[in-house]
Amino acid sequence: MPIIGHWIDGHTTAAEQTATQAVFNPATGQEIARVALGDADDAARAIASGQAAFAQWSDQSLARRAQVLFRFRDLLAANAEALARVITREQGKVLSDARGEVSRGREVVEFACGLPSQLAGSFSDQAASGIDVFTTREPLGVVAGITPFNFPVMVPLWMSPLAIAAGNTFLLKPSERDPSASLLLADLWRQAGLPDGVFNVLQGSKDAVEAILAHPDVQAVSFVGSTPVARLIHQTASANGKRVQALGGAKNHAVVLADANLEDAANQLAAAAFGAAGERCMALSVAVVEESVADQLLDQLIAKARAVKVAPGDHPGAEMGPVITRQAKDRIEALIGSAQAEGARLALDGRGYQVEGFAEGFFVGPTVIDDASPDQAIYREEVFGPVIAVVRVAGLDQAIDLVNASPYGNGTAIFTQSGGAARRFRRRVHVGMIGVNVPIPVPVAWHSFGGWKDSLFGQSHIYGPEGFAFYTRAKVVTERWPAGASAASYHFTAEP
Ligand code: NAD
Repeated sequence: MPIIGHWIDGHTTAAEQTATQAVFNPATGQEIARVALGDADDAARAIASGQAAFAQWSDQSLARRAQVLFRFRDLLAANAEALARVITREQGKVLSDARGEVSRGREVVEFACGLPSQLAGSFSDQAASGIDVFTTREPLGVVAGITPFNFPVMVPLWMSPLAIAAGNTFLLKPSERDPSASLLLADLWRQAGLPDGVFNVLQGSKDAVEAILAHPDVQAVSFVGSTPVARLIHQTASANGKRVQALGGAKNHAVVLADANLEDAANQLAAAAFGAAGERCMALSVAVVEESVADQLLDQLIAKARAVKVAPGDHPGAEMGPVITRQAKDRIEALIGSAQAEGARLALDGRGYQVEGFAEGFFVGPTVIDDASPDQAIYREEVFGPVIAVVRVAGLDQAIDLVNASPYGNGTAIFTQSGGAARRFRRRVHVGMIGVNVPIPVPVAWHSFGGWKDSLFGQSHIYGPEGFAFYTRAKVVTERWPAGASAASYHFTAEP
C-alpha cells in the first residue's frame, strides 16, 4: 500500500513514517493508500524548516516573489487535469466539479500575483511640519493552514498563495481523508522556484494539529473545517498567543419567494444541494419557500433530484459522486431517518442508494424532505450530504427570522424578481455571504470569503484583501530630518 508522507524542506518523507491511517476511494469503498500521521517531532521538523527559510524568503524582493507566484499560476493551469483526477479519486466529487475547484483555487493565486500593489503600504507626506509617516505591511513568520476534506486543492489555495506572497513561510496540514493533492501542490511550488522550506506539508490529524497549535514558532493559524473544531482551534491558538482565523460549518438557507422564476429556482436549488454530494460549506441545505408556491416548487425539485446522474466521479456525465466515508454515509442516512421520526415527510428518500457495480461505494441518493421545522435534527444539524429540507413560510419576514435564528451565518440566497424584497433581505440577514438569485455566492478572489456567527471564529475573513491583512502586520514609521537642533517639547503639541 503506498504511503502518503509529509513534505519537508523540498522533499517527501514517506519512508521515515510509521504511524499511518487508511485513505479510501469513496466510489469503490476500497483502501487505496495510507497516510502518515504526523506527531510532535514531525511538526517540529516541519516548523523548523519554515523558520529557517523565513529570513531569506521574507527578504526577497516583491518582484521576485511575484515571479514565483506567476510561475505557480501557470503550473496550476498546466496540471489542472492531474490535480482534478487526484481530487476525484480520494474525495469522490465528479471530475467536472474537481476541475472547477482547481480553477477557483487558481483565481486566488492570480489575485496573489498582484502582491506588489497589495503590499504597497501607505505614505503621508508632511503629516506634521517636517514629518512624514508611512505604514508598511510585514510578514509574520511561519504560518499554518489546517484544511478540510471537501476542497483538498481550493482551500489550501485560499491560504498559501497570500501567505507566501506576503513573505511568510507556510505549513499545510491537509485533511487525512484526501491527502495526496497536498503533495502535488508542494511539487508545483518547487517547480515554480519557491525555495525549499517556504511551503511544507505535515500529514496527520488531531495530534499533528495540536503540535502546530502548541509550537511557539507558529505565528498564525488559518483553519477551515467543522464548527466544533473551529471553535477549539480558535480558543487554543488564541490562548497560545497566535493570530487565528477559524472558519466553521454552515446551514445555508435559500429563500424562495412567490414571485421567483420557479423553474430557475428549482434548478439552482438542486445544483446547490446535490452538487459535490452536498459536501460544500456553501451548499444549500434548507429551502425556505413561500407557502403559496411550495407544492409547485417541490414538484420541480423532486423531478430535478430524480434526474441527477449519480455515479463514480470519473464516469462520463456523472453529476454527483459518493460522500467521503462509510461513516459519513451512515451518519447522513441516520439523519434522514430522524427527520421522518421527528415529523417531516420524506418526499424523496436517498437512503440505500445503489450504483450498479459499486455496491461498496459510499453513495447516498439525492434526498428531498418536506415539512421540515426548526425543532428537527435534520433542520438544525449540518448534514453535509445530498439532502435538502423544505420549510414552508408565510412570507419574507418569517423567512428572515428563520435565517437569523440559525447559529450559523455562512451563506444564504434569495430567489425573487423583486429588487425591494432582495434589498430588505440582504440588509437584514446576519450572514456573511449572500446570493441574490445566485445559489452559491462564493466571492471572487479579490473579495474576501467569510461567514458570521458560528461559521467563523476570529476577526478576519479569508483570501482577498483581508487575507493579505491577516498574513501581515503593520509597521508605522514617523520620520523627520531636521536641519538643525530644535527645542525640546515636554508636551503634546496642541496645534498641528
Ligand atoms: P473537520 O473539522 O473534521 O476537519 C478539518 C481539519 O481539522 C482536518 O485537517 C482535520 O484533520 C482536523 N481535525 C479534525 N478533528 C480535529 C480535532 N479534534 N482537533 C484538531 N484537529 C482536528 O472538517 P471536515 O469534515 O474535514 O470538513 C467538513 C467541514 O468543514 C464542514 O463542517 C464544512 O462546513 C466545513 N467547511 C467550512 C468551510 C468554510 O469556508 N466555512 C469550507 C469548507 C468546509
